[in-house]
Parts: sequence; C-alpha cells; structure tokens
Amino acid sequence: MNKSIEEIRADFPILSQKVYGKPLIYLDNGATTQKPEVVISRVANLFRHTNANVHRGVHLLSDNVSEQYEAARETVRQYINASKKEEVVFTAGTTSSINTVAFSFGEKYVGEGDEILVSAMEHHANIVPWQMLCERKKAILKVIPFNDQGLLDMEEYKRLISSRTKLVAVAHASNVLGTINPIKEITAIAHKEGIPVLVDGAQSIQHGIVDVQDLDCDFFVFSGHKIYGPTGVGVLYGREKWLEAMPPYQGGGDMVANVTFARTTYNDLPFKFEAGTTNYPAAIGLATALDYVTSIGREEIAGREKHLLEIATRELSAISGVRIYGTAQDKVSVISFLPGEVHQYDAGMILDKMGIAVRTGTHCAQPVMDRYGIPGTVRASIAFYNTEEEMYALASGVRQVMEMFA
Ligand code: PLP
Repeated sequence: MNKSIEEIRADFPILSQKVYGKPLIYLDNGATTQKPEVVISRVANLFRHTNANVHRGVHLLSDNVSEQYEAARETVRQYINASKKEEVVFTAGTTSSINTVAFSFGEKYVGEGDEILVSAMEHHANIVPWQMLCERKKAILKVIPFNDQGLLDMEEYKRLISSRTKLVAVAHASNVLGTINPIKEITAIAHKEGIPVLVDGAQSIQHGIVDVQDLDCDFFVFSGHKIYGPTGVGVLYGREKWLEAMPPYQGGGDMVANVTFARTTYNDLPFKFEAGTTNYPAAIGLATALDYVTSIGREEIAGREKHLLEIATRELSAISGVRIYGTAQDKVSVISFLPGEVHQYDAGMILDKMGIAVRTGTHCAQPVMDRYGIPGTVRASIAFYNTEEEMYALASGVRQVMEMFA
C-alpha cells in the first residue's frame, strides 16, 4: 500500500471516534462502509458551490453538474471495465438495480411457465424482486443449493437450467458466508443456452477487481455506500443489447426523447433508465470514492483484507464452541459465526459495549439461516482500514462474551 494504516485511518473521520468511551472498532462494513474525507467534502462542496439540477439547464451551474455527473459515469465505466458509458445506469442502489431488471427484463422476456434461477445464498434483494416477477407472470423461481462449506452446487446448477430458464441471478460474493462464486463458470454455462446472467456485486465491488467483460455477465449491480461512497446511489451495468431491447422501468423527466399525448418516445441509453432527478451528488461522490480506492490500490486492498480475514478466522476458530459459517477457500472478508450457545443478539449487544460494531441476525438472507437450521449469526465484515489489533480485540471480546454466559 502506498499509505500507512495510520494514514489510511486518518482519511476516515469517523474511525477516530470513541463509543462508550472506547475506541470504535467498526466491523460492520458489509452493511455499509465508512466514508473518507474526500468523499464527504466532494458532496458538501457540490452543494456549497455548484449545485443545480443535472441535465436540465443551459446555465453555468447546471452545465457544471452535468459534466461532473457524466464524468462520474465514465469513472464507473472504467472501474468495472464496461465497454461503453451507455451501459452504466445510475440507480438508487443494488436493490433498485435488481428491481429495474426484474421489472423491465421480466416485462419483455418472462411469461407463464418460464423459470428464473437464483441461488440459496442470495440477499433478499436478489430473491424478492424475482418472486414478485414470478407472481406477476406465473413464472417459476428455481434455487441452486449450496453445501455446508458455503459452495454452490454447480452440478445441480447445470441440472436446473432448462429450455424455460430466462435469467440466472446470483451473488458475486455472499454477504453471510463470504463465498466468492465462480461467476465465469456460471456465465459460460448459461450463455451456452443463450441465457443472460445478473450478478449481484453488492459484496464484491469493494473487495478487489471487478471486470464485467472478464466475468462476461449481462448485468452487474452494486451500491455506492458499500464502496466508501454515499448512500442513495448505485449502478446497473447492463450489456447494451439487453438494455436497448428492454422497456423503461419508470417514466418521467429525462428518460424521454419526445412527449405528446398521442405518443412518447424514449431517450437513448443510459438515460432511458434514469427517470426523474437522479441522485447526482451521490453519483459524483461515488466517483470520488472509486478514485480514492484506485489511489490506495485495489489489489493491495484485497491483499490486506485477506490477511485480516485470516487472522480473524484463526483467532475465532481457536475459541472452543465458536462455529463459523462459510468456510470456502475463496472468500471476501466476511466472517459469520455463533459463539457457542450465546444468542447472537446478546453477543452483538455486549460487543457493542466494548466498542465493537458487528451485525447480528439473518443479514437479509433468511434462506441461508434456514439452510443451516439457525436463527441468525454474528457477522464481522472487514475493510482495509481495519487493523490486526482489531481482529485480536474481536476474538478477545467474543471470548469474554462466552465466559460471561458460561
Ligand atoms: N445484495 C447483497 C449481497 C447485499 O449484501 C446487499 C446489502 O447488504 C444488497 C444486495 C442490498 O443492497 P442495498 O440495500 O444497498 O440496495
């Protein structure tokens, strides 16, 4: 890394805070990441100095914002290596991107008796929109199972693909198990049958290199807030041929070319999918976040997080009674566990009082809990700004929690 850990942490104002008089140990990065000062000030300065509605005016401020917004789109394009800017749509986040595809693609391509394939390790955001589509269209949702380790059953995946499969929607990385799924293999198998693949990148984008052309996916979705950017913005990458063919999801300003009461025509890509005033300050802030991550180094970030995950896994595994869920070789820095018989909420609340912020519950992935027959887990999700000491503090905190309940 080109910066020391102290310099990196100093970039994130919130990390120097104390909670309950103790240094904050923020291990809930899977839920949302903290923001570096460059992102905070970029958004604040936009409101302070150049705010105007995007794509709306001929005046200086509006022009300026429109330029920044389109530059942000180009930054995203480069970051995910999309071949064209037209393939990068700004949305409100991962959930909104998936709903856009479920509605728009579903409207055109899915009918009664057709099938959508998801995996059993999806976040609810990559389940419920497909269920809703299936309900609307009388289509069928099929589910790829995973094994105890948290690996997708690829043989079953191949078996589940049928002549009725219209789309495969799968997470790049599981938000509970951390598993990085074999997307290239998944897309290769689906494409042999001409089936498009949507990849939920909410838990992969922040952990390393994402190259949509290399993954060969048809849709790739993520949220700005998971990669050190603002909330309320996300990205829908879609292969041009699909986005061109799909109808708009929402109607309104900016997504139209010509409006009369007799007939309305739609704008070109990507604007066809950006109805109304978009969250342009957040999109611009997201580009700043991506530039920041690039300046730190994406491979360096992945390497550092892997190192921290190894420490946390080793230290937690050494505690008698701790069970870890998700033990794939290829994982992002997410570790879900149960501390013996201690309820995950009790553990989370006591860790909180020690200054350690972790997530507890089902993590919006109830089917994963059902697969293991557990009500929930404690989840520590690690970012590159976390430290080795924090990994030891987590293990020590868990040990103390278990001793209190022994
Ligand atoms: N998909 C995955 C794998 C996630 O982890 C999340 C959020 O945690 C989402 C989708 C939904 O993201 P958002 O709430 O930002 O739309």
